[in-house]
Amino acid sequence: MDTIFGKIIKREIPADIVYEDSDVLAFRDIDPKAPIHILIIPKKPIPTINDIEIEDAELIGKIVIAAKKIAKEMGIDQSGYRLVMNCNKDAGQTVFHLHCHLLGGRQLLWPPG
Ligand code: 5GP
Repeated sequence: MDTIFGKIIKREIPADIVYEDSDVLAFRDIDPKAPIHILIIPKKPIPTINDIEIEDAELIGKIVIAAKKIAKEMGIDQSGYRLVMNCNKDAGQTVFHLHCHLLGGRQLLWPPG
């Protein structure tokens, strides 16, 4: 079943896209939790971390590489940032298309709530 992120990939709904390559898309979160809040997603529709297979290993690596590039472009690579992937209910996952949150631009608290 298509998700809101699937529709963003197909340009059926708009998003503020900050990075794209053949496998990965990144766009600003509609409800940012930090001054910089980017969602990095695979174009392949993987619902949760639980659904990642060994053949997806390179794809998951590409998500992290994209995150690092975006962090540098946005000038937070030295100040710092956090990558978060929520899985299912207890982590608060609401969109079932795998995504990595890139959060930065302020001091982030630890541990998270
Ligand atoms: P989750 O809670 O599943 O880890 O994260 C989903 C994220 O997607 C949330 O931070 C939410 O604000 C964001 N989001 C939900 N719908 C949209 C949308 O239509 N566009 C964008 N850009 N972000 C969305």
